Amino acid sequence: MKLRKYILTVIIGITAMTVLSSCGNKENAAKEQPAQSTQEIFAMDTYMSLTAYGNNSEEAVNKAVQEINRLDAMFSVGNADSDVTKINENGSGEVSEETAFIMNRAMQVSEKTNGAFDITIYPLMELWGFTTKNYRVPESNEIAEALKGVSYTNVSVNGQQVALTGGSSIDLGGIAKGYTSSRVIQIMKDCGIEHAIVNLGGNVQVLGTKTDGSDWRVAIQNPASENSYLGILSTADKAVITSGGYERYFEQDGQVYHHIIDPQTGYPSDSDLTSVTIVCSDGTTADALSTALFVMGLDGAKELYRSGAIDFDMILFDGSKVYVSEGIKDTFSTDMDKEIITRQP
Ligand code: AMP
Ligand code: MG
Repeated sequence: MKLRKYILTVIIGITAMTVLSSCGNKENAAKEQPAQSTQEIFAMDTYMSLTAYGNNSEEAVNKAVQEINRLDAMFSVGNADSDVTKINENGSGEVSEETAFIMNRAMQVSEKTNGAFDITIYPLMELWGFTTKNYRVPESNEIAEALKGVSYTNVSVNGQQVALTGGSSIDLGGIAKGYTSSRVIQIMKDCGIEHAIVNLGGNVQVLGTKTDGSDWRVAIQNPASENSYLGILSTADKAVITSGGYERYFEQDGQVYHHIIDPQTGYPSDSDLTSVTIVCSDGTTADALSTALFVMGLDGAKELYRSGAIDFDMILFDGSKVYVSEGIKDTFSTDMDKEIITRQP
């Protein structure tokens, strides 16, 4: 699933770039093309692609790959030495500044989404088999038991000191990739790069514009079909991060069970949305919000957007209609039935 999604996004990205370069006039064709470097890797359980343009692009991409591997080791629940594993085992302790930063950001989003985003979801990820890929539908009493430890209010972060109460344990899977894409973009900037695009398993972040000064064109996948998309967003200097049940799921007795859990029920969220894309300058916030809004559903997402409590734009899909926030209404093109969500209802 991930591979197909990744390939689709890359193909569309490349097609968009090819169309533009092949449409260039003679003057552009005569100009020297800037240096470009691309790497494709598998990390954080997904396929990733990093492309930077300019003189230092090779060094920038190499450093970015090192950074991804460093962060993967720090956040992974599957790594015995990660900050997250140590906190889950010991219940408290000191974490890196970066882990503390992410946990603080996660808590802010939890508060603003009434707990729809909750990193203490970890026992349920285990129970449903999403951590080991030994999937199963738990008994309702098992879910009730696991839910006892699910509350972001059990997490406290003071500087780099973290404590979990109530038997809670954490999973940063809903926010870590967004932080990682932000870091990758920062590393590229530090290397003097002005134009770059990274795609971490469908989570895209772009630096600047394309080298010709036009916006990047990011295809948003149609959750109903791996080979089509909801539309294309033209954007610059933004994270474009998508959550959907189609990204990871299993099927049992004709029923689909996906990996985004509603912290209220302990079951895969059953909202009316099938895909949520957040467009935001900050990748970390975008990632947490995409997961949260998927759980909250259409009305909750509209309400949060209208409240103005967080600065973001969104593309929502409910299986038949696309809902686009007003900040990107002119830059998201789609052939689908579309409704614009304004700040004022
Ligand atoms: P994403 O693809 O960003 O929506 O993140 C999904 C991942 O976030 C899952 O694989 C879990 O690791 C974690 N997760 C699932 N449900 C939640 C939730 N309600 N709040 C926070 N993290 C979650
Ligand atoms: Mg997320």
